[in-house]
Amino acid sequence: MTDCLFCKIVSGGVPAKKVAETADVLAFRDINPQAPTHVLLIPKRHVAGSAAELSARDGALIGEMLALAARIASDEGLTSGWRLVTNVGPHAGQSVFHLHFHLVGGAPLGRFGT
Ligand code: 5GP
Ligand code: ZN
Repeated sequence: MTDCLFCKIVSGGVPAKKVAETADVLAFRDINPQAPTHVLLIPKRHVAGSAAELSARDGALIGEMLALAARIASDEGLTSGWRLVTNVGPHAGQSVFHLHFHLVGGAPLGRFGT
């Protein structure tokens, strides 16, 4: 999708600090990190919207994304814990409408959601 920021990162049109990738998933550092480690994991193909649009057919992709998140957490040395977050809609502050997970860790994160 030509006017999608994350699709431009996949194509190389917008630079990003790549962390890891699989056949279908790209991981790169968030430009405005909220924790010492803050990595975004996205499908390489444009999966429109948010987790709200997912169905059981997306199970393999989501499994690939979560397995890569676990591998990155290990590689980043997040032995004391980490968090995987996906924002949906305005109350969650979603700003990019290409499916993504935030992997955060490297310091105590506190409670979330309120
Ligand atoms: P959302 O708010 O939709 O859950 O997450 C979007 C994330 O994308 C935000 O954490 C924001 O900092 C990050 N972001 C926005 N623009 C860019 C960019 O150009 N490069 C990178 N690496 N991250 C970005
Ligand atoms: Zn996209």
